[in-house]
Amino acid sequence: MLSFEDELLPENAIPSSVTPAIPPLSRVNASDKRVINGLTDVNQLVPFKYHWAWDKYLAGCANHWMPQEVAMSRDIAQWKDSTALTEDERLIVKRNLGFFTTADSLAANNIVLGTYRHITAPECRQYLLRQGFEEAIHTHAYQYIVESLGLDEGEVFNAYQEVASIKDKDDFLIPFINTLTDPQFKTGTLESDQQLLRSLIVFACIMEGLFFYVGFVQILALGRQNKMQGAAEQYQYILRDESQHCNFGVDLINTIKLENPQLWTESFREEIKNLMQQGVELEYRYAEATMPRGVLGLNAAMFKEYLRFIANRRCQQIGLDVLYPGAKNPFPWMSEMMDLKKEKNFFETRVTEYQTGGSLSWE
Ligand code: FE
Repeated sequence: MLSFEDELLPENAIPSSVTPAIPPLSRVNASDKRVINGLTDVNQLVPFKYHWAWDKYLAGCANHWMPQEVAMSRDIAQWKDSTALTEDERLIVKRNLGFFTTADSLAANNIVLGTYRHITAPECRQYLLRQGFEEAIHTHAYQYIVESLGLDEGEVFNAYQEVASIKDKDDFLIPFINTLTDPQFKTGTLESDQQLLRSLIVFACIMEGLFFYVGFVQILALGRQNKMQGAAEQYQYILRDESQHCNFGVDLINTIKLENPQLWTESFREEIKNLMQQGVELEYRYAEATMPRGVLGLNAAMFKEYLRFIANRRCQQIGLDVLYPGAKNPFPWMSEMMDLKKEKNFFETRVTEYQTGGSLSWE
């Protein structure tokens, strides 16, 4: 009988099922791993080098949730009751779903068809797989809300092509996503590595880190006033996931910068600042379009300050000077929403607490 030792391939042999572009000459050393343009075997998760990515993968799994666990009956009753919500509040809900139903599909496609291929650290790929599933859960959540409320699906799912303030945001994002999903695109030159880095920054710091925030504040503000609490609770879980996506993106960006300092040129930094300013402008216009009047104690002007505050934070996270010195956070309660602990059920709508191990019954 063969022992395990006998079955081991000689050290230099390449497993027949996996032929890397450049065959590994020896076992993987953690110190040889690189986030981009790495030459180590992407199929070997360990030895770990990027613990921050693995830790975020574990945290994402610990935060697992599913949309159908959240009861929607009160939301449905409020939506049907013509006195429960104002027209302005209904507009917020519809525009929110109009943006988000397709935004998380864009995000998922960007990860699966783009980013994933260009990242050569298995720990980061492991997180991206988790993130891709979370984007699917988010799309599921929006679909579940649309279906529960009986909204016009054609109107909601086409909003990203038909509503100007939503289309403008997506038109800004799509070229950066297309860069990474283009089958011809490959990293390995200064220009292409900068293209990748630029797209990663747009995706993490502007899309997930800025374009989601007007919508999050609006729906969570509704929930805080006892309106649409099922939807609000789902948005709260989504906000927690998304803030983690953004944090992962920031770590990914900073590690690429550290490993490839030649990419972070003065002109590149200027370009990023300019993109960030465009992002703030587009998101502010979205705030104006979704809140033509003050609603829920919110108004578009408050969002100008909030978006500047967030943009400053994103700049600092990736090592850029702040763009709007002195900008303050007009919604300090948002940080409480983000720090949601699993045991805390803010809007008290959840049917059951999610338990990974304890939810199966074989009786
Ligand atoms: Fe995301």
